[in-house]
Amino acid sequence: MTYDDNNIFAKILRGEIPCKKIYEDEYVLSFHDVNPQKKIHALVIPKGKYINLDDFNKNASEKEIVGLMKGISIVSKKLGISSEVAHGYRTLSNISEHGGQEVPHLHFHIFGGESVGKMVQ
Ligand code: AMP
Repeated sequence: MTYDDNNIFAKILRGEIPCKKIYEDEYVLSFHDVNPQKKIHALVIPKGKYINLDDFNKNASEKEIVGLMKGISIVSKKLGISSEVAHGYRTLSNISEHGGQEVPHLHFHIFGGESVGKMVQ
């Protein structure tokens, strides 16, 4: 599978589509999910063109990998839900068909602001 430059998150990264930005640095962009599933539902995406977590772990640089992992904690802190400052949250990434991935640009969901319930339904 090759990366689709026309996926919606690629368009957000290019500034062609707006987003409700939470945080941005050299490695990641984070914004609110357009269809929130919990009180707080944010997304953290790498700036590089990676389809999913397997693609990312295979092809991204160590700096990009560290940047994305740290980005999740930075965003959770900014949102006031990090375990350092509050009650925590859930992060997950859907990978390909069986994972239920809809947008083919790697993203981590962050759910919080309330108890997020059972892990898998
Ligand atoms: P996934 O099923 O893991 O690929 O999740 C894709 C997520 O992207 C869903 O939760 C959507 O609500 C969200 N989404 C789709 N388009 C946008 C958008 N333009 N801005 C923010 N979130 C979006």
